[in-house]
Amino acid sequence: MSNKKLVSMEDIVSLCKRRGFIFQGSEIYGGLAGTWDFGPLGVALKRNIMDLWWKTFVEDREDMYGVDAAILMDQKVWQASGHTATFTDPLVECSNCHSRFRADHLEGDKCPTCGKTGTFSEAKQFNMMFQTNVGSVADENSISYLRPETAQGIFTNYKNVVDSFYPDLPFGIAQQGKAFRNEISPRDFVFRSREFEQMEIEYFIDPKDWEKLFDAWVKDIEKFLSDLGLPESSVHKLEVPKDDLAHYSKRTIDFEFDFPHKRDELLGLAYRTDFDLMNIQNASGKSMEYTVKGTSTKFVPHVIEPSFGVERAIMAVLVSAYTEDEVNGEKRTYLKLPAHLAPVKIAVSPLLKNKPELVTKAREVYDMLKKQHGAVMWDDNGNIGKRYRRQDEIGTPECVVIDFQTLEDDTVTVRDRDTTEQKRVNIIELPGQYR
Ligand code: ATP
Repeated sequence: MSNKKLVSMEDIVSLCKRRGFIFQGSEIYGGLAGTWDFGPLGVALKRNIMDLWWKTFVEDREDMYGVDAAILMDQKVWQASGHTATFTDPLVECSNCHSRFRADHLEGDKCPTCGKTGTFSEAKQFNMMFQTNVGSVADENSISYLRPETAQGIFTNYKNVVDSFYPDLPFGIAQQGKAFRNEISPRDFVFRSREFEQMEIEYFIDPKDWEKLFDAWVKDIEKFLSDLGLPESSVHKLEVPKDDLAHYSKRTIDFEFDFPHKRDELLGLAYRTDFDLMNIQNASGKSMEYTVKGTSTKFVPHVIEPSFGVERAIMAVLVSAYTEDEVNGEKRTYLKLPAHLAPVKIAVSPLLKNKPELVTKAREVYDMLKKQHGAVMWDDNGNIGKRYRRQDEIGTPECVVIDFQTLEDDTVTVRDRDTTEQKRVNIIELPGQYR
């Protein structure tokens, strides 16, 4: 029987490193804090999550438009959006050990590094944008930033999409891509990184419809989280209290997840009114008004913004999938990933790797399955038990083994990750089985 224990951060970090999902960025030189590199299985898992999001929210809908905007944008974008002035976190420094912390993440006045109390400076506002210069002259006019969110690349393309596609309201523009924040203290594995990936949508609406459309987004997000394999019991909707809402927002829900470090924000859903488009209209002097087709009614649309972080989704998926049980008296760890997210769908092995006839037959099966499914792994390392353990740990739903009986009757063993049950299947029935 599988037994879902509370997963520790150490379990996840060590599995990710051991099995080639996620490594510390620049590890070979000691590591660059807040940066992470995705290994072969990590990048596959990440893509599967991002592709599922794209399919769910862009391809499968007729009211969505995808964009892929430049990471470097004119600094006017960040002035107009308010990021230059206010995208800050409160920073305090310990006068004893000079460690720096985000003031709102501290509990009490004891320094977590040196243990002294009462040594914190007054908090000062620290802007989290990474600044750079575009072109060969480094002056005020050439300042640019690595974008701290993908959303502004959507807003600045709103007019382009309206003018080239004439969408009916409501409609959304979606973008996936890198975002950069110079977090004061990156921590909790990839949860708080300095370079990460976002999947954001601005859903443009007529303000009179905001309540019902907001509720529809809550449902769509819940469905997506369930498709990621997150148990309902680990996801919590935090209705941000009116007093804590940004001045322009009428409603925000933080979707929180029970991460190993604590219950914390997985993604946000915010009704941002017309704040962003009005800022752009005022700063650019260009009209952001939308004309309702066949009428003379014009207004600046409002937006609902579902904002997902890819790294936090990966962590939540891994935590949800991480399972330990006992097989024949031995402890086993496996990732109970939904098959559509698994980095490897099928592993193919010859029972013995020193028997050429088995290897040749196994290669045939491997080639056939690889053509059908792509993410198929050839695995002939170690004995069969070891291969199963390894595939279990990376979440491969099924292992196909070619043995001596295969040579006689063209049947193979198919072993199920979750039940560890094995059944014999005819080779010709294999491809369809995994569709
Ligand atoms: P937090 O309060 O945790 O700093 P935030 O409210 O500032 O997050 P948003 O600006 O709403 O986050 O960003 C949208 C999403 O982007 C978040 O819900 C999260 O999934 C992701 N995200 C934000 N900052 C980071 C980060 N430093 N590392 C990884 N993901 C992040």
